[in-house]
Amino acid sequence: TAISRLDMEGAMRRGLERGEFKLHYQPKIELATQRIVGAEALVRWQHPQIGLIHPIEFISLAEESGLILPLGEWVLAEVCRQQVEWKAQGMGLVKTAINMSSRQFRQEDLAERVAAVFAQTCADPALVTLELTESMVMHDVNSTLVALRTLKQLGLTISLDDFGTGYSSLSYLRRFPIDELKIDKSFINDIHENSDDAAIASAIIAMALSLGLSVVAEGVERKEQSDLLLSMGCNQVQGYYFGRPMDAAAFAARLREQQVRMK
Ligand code: C2E
Ligand code: CA
Ligand code: CA
Repeated sequence: TAISRLDMEGAMRRGLERGEFKLHYQPKIELATQRIVGAEALVRWQHPQIGLIHPIEFISLAEESGLILPLGEWVLAEVCRQQVEWKAQGMGLVKTAINMSSRQFRQEDLAERVAAVFAQTCADPALVTLELTESMVMHDVNSTLVALRTLKQLGLTISLDDFGTGYSSLSYLRRFPIDELKIDKSFINDIHENSDDAAIASAIIAMALSLGLSVVAEGVERKEQSDLLLSMGCNQVQGYYFGRPMDAAAFAARLREQQVRMK
């Protein structure tokens, strides 16, 4: 578009102040039961003139400009606020994952900041997962280990996102206190028709399970993919086949419907 970088930065800064950002929630499904057991929060920018803007359009600029720090903190606070509201409405809660940027993860006072958000909102850290990428955790393994231990002590769950696209040392995968591994959607796309992709996915699943990690496949768009992943022992799936990212009201409706059915 014709919007310059500086305009965009200013617009984002004002957008944050004016509350133009919002979260969509995509269901995470447990394959064995086909039930929603979690969600991933994905940020959207509801611009008053342009309309809905997706993260691909603004996350990298937010990272470069440093705006990702207040934005990332807003995302965490909003997930917490939403969970407390849902709880007050009597809804059974599911774990919600948030995406953390490398800049956020490298903040010296990250754990204090995260703890402060939970203290202020009265949300339960056991219901929040932090998604980190391989490059983020492999960047400086010693400080990563300290940061992960502190976040785990707060009660948070740690997930390794986009797994397979970056470089991971398997020995660190074992040493880091990680709970979950998310297989990148590029490996899932053709899993039902490409035996190499199926072999890779199957190997990642076997490795994750033997390390005691829960494994999630993302980008599941077809039933064949889901069936194959179930046969490989994959724990959870996420993707358009089970539900697109949706606003909080739509997600709450899906969850309520499931809870009624289960009674
Ligand atoms: P991601 O963390 O890998 O998130 C998954 C992306 O895949 C989401 O795109 C989601 O809508 C999309 N997706 C889900 N299921 C399917 C499917 O079946 N097929 C296909 N083709 N795509 C699917 P979205 O919401 O546009 O987010 C893109 C990226 O932006 C995310 O990738 C994440 O890296 C980043 N992002 C989103 N929200 C945040 C945030 O709050 N903070 C930070 N730092 N980054 C965020
Ligand atoms: Ca993610
Ligand atoms: Ca991902």
